[in-house]
Amino acid sequence: NQIHIFDPQGNSLIPDALATLLVLSEGKPVSQYQQVVSRADGTTLPVLVNAVPIEHRDLLAWMGTEVDEGTLPAILPMALVVHQDVTPFKEAEELKDNVLGEVAHELRTPLTLIKGFASALLTDTATGKGVPLAEWQQEAITEIDLGADMLTRLTNDLLDVVRLQGRRLVINPEPFNILTLTQRMIVDLQRTTERHQIRLSLIPASLCELMASIDEGRIQQVLSNLLTNAIKYSPQGGTIEMSLRKEEQETVLISIEDHGIGIPQAEQARIFGRFARASNGETHRISGTGLGLYLCRELVLQHKGQIWFESREGVGSTFFVRLSLMPDHATSDAIKPVDPLPV
Ligand code: ADP
Repeated sequence: NQIHIFDPQGNSLIPDALATLLVLSEGKPVSQYQQVVSRADGTTLPVLVNAVPIEHRDLLAWMGTEVDEGTLPAILPMALVVHQDVTPFKEAEELKDNVLGEVAHELRTPLTLIKGFASALLTDTATGKGVPLAEWQQEAITEIDLGADMLTRLTNDLLDVVRLQGRRLVINPEPFNILTLTQRMIVDLQRTTERHQIRLSLIPASLCELMASIDEGRIQQVLSNLLTNAIKYSPQGGTIEMSLRKEEQETVLISIEDHGIGIPQAEQARIFGRFARASNGETHRISGTGLGLYLCRELVLQHKGQIWFESREGVGSTFFVRLSLMPDHATSDAIKPVDPLPV
């Protein structure tokens, strides 16, 4: 019937990934599965699919039909599938995104002014130009400068979220050495904290280049967010271990481990969602927006990479990112799996 089904990101779904076929083939319920139905006339319908498998015996019993075991079709699976039209929710979400986008956009000009003048005042005093500022004035302007940086990060994150929703966030991959990027970031972030020690380990230790086709700014945004979180959610300080492991499958596995507050088990599944924050962050009065990890995941997915984490509340968290390397550079120093023992 010229009907096609897509996931919310616009990727065509293979039949095995369709909610209806999933429930029939696996015999397990499917809940809150988002799909987009594209009709023959080109219009689309966003739907939420919930489905439960049904036993023939149960169905006949509900219908009040006498069950004759011998006549039950043994193999044909059945399911009750509900497609809910979520157009109004999507429209409301779009409206919210548009408002967010407008606000974030409008905030950029005044923020640039605040940042520009605060930086100019600080630099002029440091270089002896103009009337020198008193110590308390310098402190106040430094706070204004830091506040402006925070607001700029927040507005940039909001603009990215809106771009992602409108599928307008495009990455521009170019060959780049991930190792150089990581080393530079560690130096920069180490400057922001005295209570944490950021360590980098390379596997193998002889690693000197990790060329990948990436959008440098975007991967820096991902790693910077993960490292900043490792610092922020370890309020007692301590070591943060970052490692870069070159793998056999022409990939690099980046891990960032902290010994901070961790993420409660029950909240882990939704932590990559938009505006998702774990409850223990609030308890420790650590501020945040819950946008960073959402953006990290989307950006890593745009690079066709993977992102996941392991965490225990009160013990710490390790975030992992796997990215493809450029073929020429992938094999030379790669870790080889240990040869299996002869049988
Ligand atoms: P933000 O830090 O701005 O709230 P993120 O999207 O980066 O947003 O993270 C989402 C939530 O995941 C955080 O609010 C926090 O509850 C949890 N989280 C992320 N990283 C860590 C970490 N390293 N340790 C503990 N909790 C974390």
